Amino acid sequence: MQQIKNYINGQLLDSVSGKKLENCNPATGEVYSFLPDSNEKDVEIAVQSALQAFPAWSVAGIEKRSNILLKIADLIEQNLEKFALAETNDNGKPLWLSRKVDIPRASSNFRFYATAILHHSTETHYLENNALNYTLRSPIGVAGCISPWNLPLYLFTWKIAPALATGNCVVAKPSEITPMTAFLLSEICIEAGLPAGVLNIVHGLGHKVGAAISGHPQIPVISFTGGTSTGAQIASVAAPMFKKMSLELGGKNPNILFSDCNFEAALNTTVQSSFANQGQICLCGSRIFVERPLYEKFKNAFVQKVSEMQVGDPLLEESKLAAVVSKQHMEKVLSYIELAKQEGGNVLCGGRQASVAGRCEKGWFIKPTVIEGLPFNCRTNQEEIFGPVVTIMPFDTEEEVLMYANSTKYGLAATLWTNNLTRAHRMAEKLHSGIVWINCWLLRDLRTPFGGVKNSGVGREGGFEALEFFTEPKNVCIKL
Ligand code: NDP
Repeated sequence: MQQIKNYINGQLLDSVSGKKLENCNPATGEVYSFLPDSNEKDVEIAVQSALQAFPAWSVAGIEKRSNILLKIADLIEQNLEKFALAETNDNGKPLWLSRKVDIPRASSNFRFYATAILHHSTETHYLENNALNYTLRSPIGVAGCISPWNLPLYLFTWKIAPALATGNCVVAKPSEITPMTAFLLSEICIEAGLPAGVLNIVHGLGHKVGAAISGHPQIPVISFTGGTSTGAQIASVAAPMFKKMSLELGGKNPNILFSDCNFEAALNTTVQSSFANQGQICLCGSRIFVERPLYEKFKNAFVQKVSEMQVGDPLLEESKLAAVVSKQHMEKVLSYIELAKQEGGNVLCGGRQASVAGRCEKGWFIKPTVIEGLPFNCRTNQEEIFGPVVTIMPFDTEEEVLMYANSTKYGLAATLWTNNLTRAHRMAEKLHSGIVWINCWLLRDLRTPFGGVKNSGVGREGGFEALEFFTEPKNVCIKL
């Protein structure tokens, strides 16, 4: 059994209490490692280590910080296979996906922010013949970073990299369900020469470790990605303490297809945007709206393709979908399929657990599921399912589909398929969404602002937005 350790003050440690939690491989349903069941005492030690490291790290200079972060990026790349296998064993996702997306992206996150700080500048405001203002940007102190299980290392590093690059020290918590690659990252940080206490990783449960981080009086800035209800709990603690917060939360993203779209591109990409990572990406589209003249043709071709997707052992190249993250999550997703049926939905394909023979016979797999016949405002079409389940329905007019698309409490991402340029711009402006993809999906440029509106979040990450989030601006005014 592998033993995952906390990374505090440069050392790999068990929890203060000595208690441990079991960590499962979702593809086999078996416990394969243990992680520290940490509590507020471990968080306290981590915060004090970070506070001790802060004075030196915050003035280390951008070149030194950049070099260390680049070294971390290199080491992740050099250990790609080890990281990819660890991510797959921990999360259940196909190995090809971990290898192609999750781990390379984690390395890019470090590389991007290691170099971004070299090119970042602050503003000046000149008042003619009177005064010169300039903005100083300083690191804030100890940043709390809390991340979810769906893209474990990818999202963990998306927060940590800009926080460290800008000179903050960090106390971070990965999801207790997928802690392994964060542990491997600790080992790499030690090898890369990251000074002790600059990054601290405390493993354990959300209501213990996560709550201790978000409520800690010496952590003035919190970056959180996860569910909307957890985001609300964190905000209820952190807001009265006047902490700076970035909350990246849930979604219920619309996929809108007009009859004039490029059919093949729309079809192939919608299969991806519906079921990539078993539908467990906050950016996956879970409601597909198709203009009526195209509806039957698209539906039939889509269902055909989805029915052919192989659900299987994540280690096999041919498995398009693999395990969902946990038994509890599988049961939640299956319960939504039952709800959809009660609400009058017609299951066009999938609709049940998938059995995978051999080493995965006790694993947690779900067949990709397409449901039609549901009204836009039923629970299935309003609540986040976060699994391989999509609904499909026709629409007649732009106004109607905008109303459907904007009807949920969420507003993270939307995908639009049309070759009508004017309509594309008009719709993009009217969609209640932090991100709109036109004739594409998940085409990511790390320089762009990333985040949601309504209950999908508060604030933006990505690009220079993250550098600004993790620094405090100060205006200095000089009388001329
Ligand atoms: P959760 O909100 O359950 O958990 C996210 C993290 O918060 C975990 O590390 C969790 O720990 C921790 N946590 C739980 N309770 C608390 C608490 N009271 N205080 C502080 N931290 C706490 O989300 P999931 O892990 O289930 O992730 C799925 C969700 O994440 C979906 O809603 C998805 O849409 C969203 N998401 C949003 C993204 C975005 O960019 N907008 C991107 C990816 C996912 P533990 O695991 O131990 O419970």
